[in-house]
Amino acid sequence: MKNTLQLIIGALACLTITQCAQQQMQRQVLESRTVVLDIGHYYASGRGGQGARTPDASQGGSLEECEFWYKYAGEVKDVIEQAGYKCVVINRGDMPTDPSLAACARKTGVLHVKTPQPTAVYLSRHHPERMAVGILSADYALDWKPAAVIFLHLNSDSDTWHTSYKGAFYCNKTGEPMAITMAEHMNQTIFNRTMPNGGFPCGVIIRTDGHKGGGDWLNTCNDSWVPAIITEIAFLSNPQHVRFLNSPVKARQFARAIGEGAIRYLSNR
Ligand SMILES: [Zn+2]
Repeated sequence: MKNTLQLIIGALACLTITQCAQQQMQRQVLESRTVVLDIGHYYASGRGGQGARTPDASQGGSLEECEFWYKYAGEVKDVIEQAGYKCVVINRGDMPTDPSLAACARKTGVLHVKTPQPTAVYLSRHHPERMAVGILSADYALDWKPAAVIFLHLNSDSDTWHTSYKGAFYCNKTGEPMAITMAEHMNQTIFNRTMPNGGFPCGVIIRTDGHKGGGDWLNTCNDSWVPAIITEIAFLSNPQHVRFLNSPVKARQFARAIGEGAIRYLSNR
């Protein structure tokens, strides 16, 4: 009887300690004034950005997502900093060898994680049961004890031109309210307004799958109660989206709308 009682008390204490640790982590996230932006993929010398690319240059020029975000991450950062938050911009690779992209990286202050093998799967330092290509970025983002992490990507669902409209903010469970706010902002400012999208709204998809892909970037952030979003909202295989993104003025508005949506969520937490 005494042993049973001790077991019950022990279990309750353990539950309380776990809950305390969880509440402390959640409080830390809520009190954080730092947002981390991760420029997706990496730049390979002589081969360029290693993310998705347009099928060809017929819609105003060739576009690749890593190169795009080297050019425009500074716009997202500017919006976030103007709202009084610290913004850290990272990339899992090394400084681009292309001089104009390197100039953009320096201007934006991109911190390079220099993953030894950018295409290899690594275990997370923070949550070792999580593993993925690119997870060193997610780890480095968590080192900053952030309020949120935004993984900057562009989507593609075809190697040939194909008009896709189902773009979405992929998010973890913790990040769902943030993704919903960011999607609302996109719908009010960009989607079906300046950027044609066939009348379809910007989507929100909770993603928990996968040890190899972006699922575990989101999972490892979720394990630390940090909202995390992957911006797969425009398609490099959709000629309408690409014509839009090839306009520097519109690309800048698109990037800034991502920052504005994030701040709209963060300032109302
Ligand atoms: Zn990508």
